[in-house]
Amino acid sequence: MSSRILNGTSIAREIRAEVAAEVKKMAAAGVRPGLAVILAGHNPASEIYVRGKVKACEEVGIYSEQHTPAATTTTAELLALMDDLNRREEVDGILVQLPLPTGVDSKKLLMAVDPAKDVDGFHPLNVGFLSTQRPGLVPCTPAGVIEMLSRSRIPIAGQEAVIVGRSDIVGKPAAMLLLNASATVTVCHSKTHDLPEVCRRADILVAAIGRAGMITREFVKPGATVIDVGMNKVTDEREFQRLFGGNSKREESFRTKGATLVGDVHPEVAEVAGAITPVPGGVGPLTIAMLMYNTVKAAKMRRGTLSVAIDQ
Ligand code: NAP
Repeated sequence: MSSRILNGTSIAREIRAEVAAEVKKMAAAGVRPGLAVILAGHNPASEIYVRGKVKACEEVGIYSEQHTPAATTTTAELLALMDDLNRREEVDGILVQLPLPTGVDSKKLLMAVDPAKDVDGFHPLNVGFLSTQRPGLVPCTPAGVIEMLSRSRIPIAGQEAVIVGRSDIVGKPAAMLLLNASATVTVCHSKTHDLPEVCRRADILVAAIGRAGMITREFVKPGATVIDVGMNKVTDEREFQRLFGGNSKREESFRTKGATLVGDVHPEVAEVAGAITPVPGGVGPLTIAMLMYNTVKAAKMRRGTLSVAIDQ
C-alpha cells in the first residue's frame, strides 16, 4: 500500500493567497498589517528562517522590519526594544527568533511581548486562551498541522490522536488544538512506556520529537494519518543508509550537499500510513503561512474587526 502524500507546499500557497486577499481588503480600509522580527546575534539557520519570513511578508503585502542586535546584546537592551515595538501602532506582530544569544533571559523577553502582538502564540495569556477556547493567537506550527488535516478533509472529531513530543512550541499546543477539535488525545514523551504500542492506537499520529526517522512502521496502524513535524539534518553516512538506502534521488543530493533533511518519521512509514506529510514540503511551509495568517489576525483583533470565521 502506498500512502496519500499531504502536500504542505500547495496548502501553504492556498493560505498565503487567502491572507494576501485579506491584506488587500485591509489596505482599501487604510490598514497595513506589520510584523517586526527580532534576530539577535549570528545564527546561520535563524538567518535563513528570518529571510524566509520577511520574503513571505513581502509576497502577501504585510509590512515587515528586522531588528538585528549584536550577539553581545543584553536582556535590558532587548526589553527596551520590545517596549518600543509594543508601543508602535503600525507593528501588529512581534516575533523573537530563537535561540537568543547566551546570557539573554529568553523567558523574560517572551513574557514582555504584548499578548495582542504575540504572533508566535507563546505568551501564557495566549496559551490560556487556547486551552479555554477563547480567541487568541495560536502557535504557528501546530496551527499549520490543523490546517493540513482540515484542508485535506481528514476527520478529527472522535478520532484517536497521538502526539509524540510535549514541547510548549509544538507538542502541547498541537494536543490542545486536537482536543478542541474533539479528538481523543494522548501525549507521549521520553518517559512513555511502550511507545510503539501507544502510537499504534492513533488514527492521527503527530511526530514532534527532533529525532531523525525515529517513527518506524511498527509505530503506525495501517491506514493512519501521519504528520511529521520533525526537521533534522542528517550528515552521517550510516544514518543516511538506514533512512534512504536505495533512494537514488536522495543519494545524489546527499553526495552533493553532504547532508539531507529528514523528519522524525522513517520513509518506510509511507508504505503503511493512509496519508503522510513529506519532509521537506510538509508542515514546514505551513508554519510560515500561519505566521502571515497570525499577523493579519493580530491586526484585526487589535482593531476589533476580527470576524469569528477567521478564528480557530
Ligand atoms: P523539543 O522541545 O526538543 O521537544 C521534543 C519532545 O520529544 C520532548 O517532549 C521529548 O520528551 C520528546 N522526545 C525526545 N526523545 C524522545 C523519545 N526517544 N521518545 C519519546 N519522546 C521523545 O522539540 P520541538 O521544539 O518540539 O521540535 C520537535 C521537532 O520539530 C524538531 O525536529 C524541530 O526541528 C521540529 N520543528 C519543526 C517546525 C516546522 O516548522 N516544521 C517547527 C518547530 C519545530 P521529554 O519532554 O520527555 O524530553
